[in-house]
Amino acid sequence: MPLGTVPAASPQPLIDPYRRHITYLRVSVTDRCDFRCVYCMSEDMTFLPKAEILSLEELDRVCTAFVRLGVRKLRLTGGEPLVRRNIMSLFRALGRHIASGALDELTVTTNGSQLARYADELRDCGVRRINVSVDTLDSAKFTAITRWGKLDQVLGGIAAAKAAGLAVKINAVALKGVNDDEFDRMIAWCGEHGHDMTIIEVMPMGDIGPDRLDQYLPLSLVRARLAERWTLEDSDYRSGGPARYVTVKETGRRLGFITPLTHNFCELCNRVRLTCTGTLYMCLGQEDSADFRAPLRASDDDAPLDAAIYAAIARKPKGHDFIIDRRHRGPAVPRHMSVTGG
Ligand code: SAM
Ligand code: SF4
Repeated sequence: MPLGTVPAASPQPLIDPYRRHITYLRVSVTDRCDFRCVYCMSEDMTFLPKAEILSLEELDRVCTAFVRLGVRKLRLTGGEPLVRRNIMSLFRALGRHIASGALDELTVTTNGSQLARYADELRDCGVRRINVSVDTLDSAKFTAITRWGKLDQVLGGIAAAKAAGLAVKINAVALKGVNDDEFDRMIAWCGEHGHDMTIIEVMPMGDIGPDRLDQYLPLSLVRARLAERWTLEDSDYRSGGPARYVTVKETGRRLGFITPLTHNFCELCNRVRLTCTGTLYMCLGQEDSADFRAPLRASDDDAPLDAAIYAAIARKPKGHDFIIDRRHRGPAVPRHMSVTGG
């Protein structure tokens, strides 16, 4: 290199005030959904007007900026990501970062209703693992929980994903008196079909009608009950998320627990969440946010967007303070999980 030439500097990594390295972006690509799960949405949700929603090209631009600044894992979620029109064009565009090696993982969290249609294409775009939310294997209960969902359609989607070569992790929200008698059956089913599973504590997000205290089931209880039937071996495995895993000796599959309420997982948080309107939430359980839609639409130059990303990461809070007890029955944050993306 000739004297005096400065090598192109790679951008500063995204490091927050608590020295956490931000390498994981979750993107809610739509607030809409074809289900109305009782813990997530009310039946008569009002959705955002179209003008407020980032186009697929704009979403690609923000995701690409994050990848340029060091994000290694992207998860598309929602609402239901696979009901957004032409969503595969976004997966295809983002797949270029997997192909170039800039991104380690491109993945999706879905309710599975559209998987039969899209599984092969997801695999072609570089997706290798997906999360599918299934809270029960009882079809009447499934319709009661999701209000509009059909279990057979989802199980068909999961089978298609497996056939396409995608690893499927099942996510189940623990709901007191609803599916707490079913985890044994679900663990056995996951063992038979080769799926890992994660059980999630219900979080106080958004006004959904029924009282949260009625739904809340601490996972410490669930785990103690499961340990009576299964051999749960502690595991160091980390998926890059907040779940703590055990291996179920009898099935050989992993079982994760996400416990925002009984055990706070914020100290290792490596992620931020973008909504479909271009708002970045630096913490799932806090209100502070940063708007990227204005810098995106103001200019084709990415410099203002990069600056907005650095400024937001510099404000990432230490953690959330979710509580559900008799004095805290309402939502800890007013927005629904489908807005921020679970
Ligand atoms: N529609 C997709 C799905 O259901 O997988 C993606 C979005 S959904 C908001 C993502 C995850 O958040 C799902 O596993 C869902 O069960 C979970 N979820 C939604 N509301 C929740 C809440 N209040 N507490 C805990 N988990 C919740
Ligand atoms: Fe839709 Fe997922 Fe929320 Fe259920 S959990 S209503 S599938 S966004």
